Amino acid sequence: MKKKNSSGKWISRQECLADASYTCNLFCRYCHNPPSGSRTEIRDVIGRVRRAGIKSVSLEGRGEPTTNPGLPELIAGLRGAGVRDVMLSTNAVALSDKKFCARIAGGVDFFTVNFPSHAEDVYNRVTRSVKYRQAVSGLRNLAELGLEERIRFFHIILGDNCRLLPDFVEWVKASHPRCSLVNFTFVRNKGRVGDDKAIVPAYSEAAPFVKIALARAKLAGLKAVIQNMPLCVLGNFGGFSFEYQRWRRGDEPLEGGIDGPAPAAACRLCRLAPACCGARPDYLRIYGEGELKSSDADPAAIKPERF
Ligand code: SF4
Ligand code: SF4
Repeated sequence: MKKKNSSGKWISRQECLADASYTCNLFCRYCHNPPSGSRTEIRDVIGRVRRAGIKSVSLEGRGEPTTNPGLPELIAGLRGAGVRDVMLSTNAVALSDKKFCARIAGGVDFFTVNFPSHAEDVYNRVTRSVKYRQAVSGLRNLAELGLEERIRFFHIILGDNCRLLPDFVEWVKASHPRCSLVNFTFVRNKGRVGDDKAIVPAYSEAAPFVKIALARAKLAGLKAVIQNMPLCVLGNFGGFSFEYQRWRRGDEPLEGGIDGPAPAAACRLCRLAPACCGARPDYLRIYGEGELKSSDADPAAIKPERF
């Protein structure tokens, strides 16, 4: 995700600073990278970035960066080390504190907000918390600071929320119509997810709702992408695929650090394979290959949607 800077320029290389956090204020059932508790000194992170000449960073990690008391110092140090683009991946809960929100916001170009449901009961269930209202208030604080256009919603598709995806788009349209992007991402069965089919829906179960949500986003004038869902599952909605958009721009479909696709039989014969994320091995482990359909279509013929 997070691949354009504040002037809208495509960024092919963005360094993920996985040591921006080491703990979290939520305990999500779907967490791919649970906090390790292992902490890196901020000066070491800044020194590493300076030596490597990195110009664009994404502050994420195993946990929630806003729980790191050194976050303001880290952001200031990165700017001092020559970093031009800073993206903060956050659940927005801590941003419900107006003063803290304003302090952090000054140094961040984009906020990728992990927000798994607009429905309070679903949000609290999947995050195993009672912090829905704080997250909503954090989002509102960003908007009140005039930063709504810098919000990117990161909405992981789960068994709990997949039927609500179209309604989620309606909520975004009503609450944050100027947000920069709605990024739907199909859950990976890593970390706390395990092989739990109650968390990981089948592609065929989620796809109808994904398509309606993407269509509604387009009609509402919201930019939207879908990540980690194969092109054959998306059908005529392939132009919304994040990995396809990467391929169109000359990048590898999958971002660095993400495991490659499973060597499925259908993919070996498929002309769309160079532009497709494929299915992950962990998905096929629980659902098998039956939903994948090879295609003779030229990937260049897919019409890309706004991104
Ligand atoms: S998904 Fe994000 S917010 Fe949720 S527990 Fe994991 S690190 Fe924390
Ligand atoms: S068959 Fe494989 S490569 Fe082809 S569209 Fe489906 S997942 Fe992608």
